[in-house]
Amino acid sequence: MRIGFGYDVHRLAENRRLILCGAEIPYELGLLGHSDADVAVHALMDAVLGALVLGDIGHLFPDSDPRFKDADSMKLLKQVIGKMTNSGYALGNLDVTIIAERPKLAPHIIKMRENLAAAFNCDLSRVSVKATTEEGLGLGGAGIGAHAVVLLEKI
Ligand code: MG
Repeated sequence: MRIGFGYDVHRLAENRRLILCGAEIPYELGLLGHSDADVAVHALMDAVLGALVLGDIGHLFPDSDPRFKDADSMKLLKQVIGKMTNSGYALGNLDVTIIAERPKLAPHIIKMRENLAAAFNCDLSRVSVKATTEEGLGLGGAGIGAHAVVLLEKI
């Protein structure tokens, strides 16, 4: 078994869509980034790459590369999952925590879990997505952060 951890933060901005774990969340602001800025999937990809000691997403999908402009992070995740499979590993389980003062994410958690389970082609019981605030002490509504941990099992 191998464990991996990932962390990411993106700034909230106007005229951007808010995409978390591939789910579009209705909100007046969205996350700023070169890709679709799906901060939760970015943390998750770094966790998988970390478990495999394959570097990080900045190395794999550089900001400087126009191919990744407005990229669908779920498609990038599929590439990372391909690397996991090619390395001889399958997902044991994953756990993502999204840090957001607003909007309320509870109504969207199930869709986010379903999207990730579909990407990994695994049972929903292996996929946890949680949301928390920082009681106004941290990002303070200026951005959204995400932590992810994964356990991979040798096939
Ligand atoms: Mg990112």
